[in-house]
Amino acid sequence: MINARHFPLLSFALLLLSLRLSLATSPPQQDPETPVARFQKYLRFNTAHPNPNYTAPVSFLTSLATSLGLKTQTLEFIPNKPTLLITWQGSNPSLHSLLFNSHLDSVPAEPSKWTHPPFSATLTPEGKIFARGAQDDKCIAIQYLEAIRNLKARNFVPTRTLHISFVPDEEIGGIDGSDKFVKSKEFKDLDVGFVLDEGQASVNDEFRVFYADRSPWNLIIKAKGVPGHGSRMYDNGAMENLMDSIEVINRFRDSQFDIVKAGKASNSEVISVNPVFLKAGIPSPTGFVMNMQPSEAEAGFDLRLPPTADPDLVKKRIAEEWAPAVRNMTYEIIEKGPLRDYMGRPLMTATDDSNPWWSVFKQAIAAAGGKLAKPEILSSTTDARFMRQLGIPAFGFSPMTNTPILLHDHNEFLKDTIFLKGIEVYEHIIHALSSFEEANSI
Ligand SMILES: [Zn+2]
Repeated sequence: MINARHFPLLSFALLLLSLRLSLATSPPQQDPETPVARFQKYLRFNTAHPNPNYTAPVSFLTSLATSLGLKTQTLEFIPNKPTLLITWQGSNPSLHSLLFNSHLDSVPAEPSKWTHPPFSATLTPEGKIFARGAQDDKCIAIQYLEAIRNLKARNFVPTRTLHISFVPDEEIGGIDGSDKFVKSKEFKDLDVGFVLDEGQASVNDEFRVFYADRSPWNLIIKAKGVPGHGSRMYDNGAMENLMDSIEVINRFRDSQFDIVKAGKASNSEVISVNPVFLKAGIPSPTGFVMNMQPSEAEAGFDLRLPPTADPDLVKKRIAEEWAPAVRNMTYEIIEKGPLRDYMGRPLMTATDDSNPWWSVFKQAIAAAGGKLAKPEILSSTTDARFMRQLGIPAFGFSPMTNTPILLHDHNEFLKDTIFLKGIEVYEHIIHALSSFEEANSI
């Protein structure tokens, strides 16, 4: 038997051989020093609700930023819910700054429904990177930093200061995230003049840009009525009252959907109302008592209001038609965020000449060789609404063309080529916006 202790050279050779063998049998490793590898590393942090791990990705992003010579600051408005703020100081601090935002968290994933584990960030031979958050919105977080890396390598110095914020809890409404952040003294001190936040993928070769979000309302309507035998027909039973309301609400839903179907508006430009729960009946050991009409019944609806909708009119409709007191109905509206800015104006960012940021942004996309689609209202909601509420112009933008829209879906992925092109697009955007000096009065 050969004892390696007595044959150091032989043992070294054996070690080399085993190393070679293990290298030959293990899959090819990604170079950790590429933008795609850094993206994969960020994607591997499980920041899905209900228990997002914020600590590890924040320290990863902090070290990335520090290695680029950027200033970092971690703010904690709520314990264990950090907001990471990264700053690239501009040469003229008297100008309003730029803020590029992204959220650290993601929605959950059901691993059994995925072809690759959702936090593996598997890169397939076709270049698809599979991970929860690949589109929503960890791509933009790394793209912001990679764009800065490339601009710094070319010795570019911004005139305006650029801040990047990585916020918690966007996917659960942002109340402990962006809402707290924008109301803080630290935010005020940033003197932000323009915000870029997340957008959505585009299935064609045009980049999508969003100038407003729809505002979500949770509506719960409750009916009370006289209980009675299941065989009796009488007026004002709770179920009957609730079903009358559901019919009325459904007619309104149809009227809005008809506008979309006729091509007169997009989905995000109308008020959507969708039933999400029904609660009624008297429970029995085997299900429900079938020969009793209950004295209470309720239903829940998800409403989305575009900024063009008049919230007072919608409230009037709910009070008079959807849950009228004369039919023993009550209701509760939970507004999940603002609808108007601090001046009472609709939460919309102008996409015309009245907004100088718009033309700079548009030109930057053209300079990157990209085409911009007609600006849209986002069907859902992002943190941008909190910045718009302060009167700060904000666009939603994620540079993903020719990509299926897979946010919150199984098998969310982004192609490496699209991810890399996005970095280039942000280089143009940062270059243009941070060099733009005329918009300081806005
Ligand atoms: Zn998102």
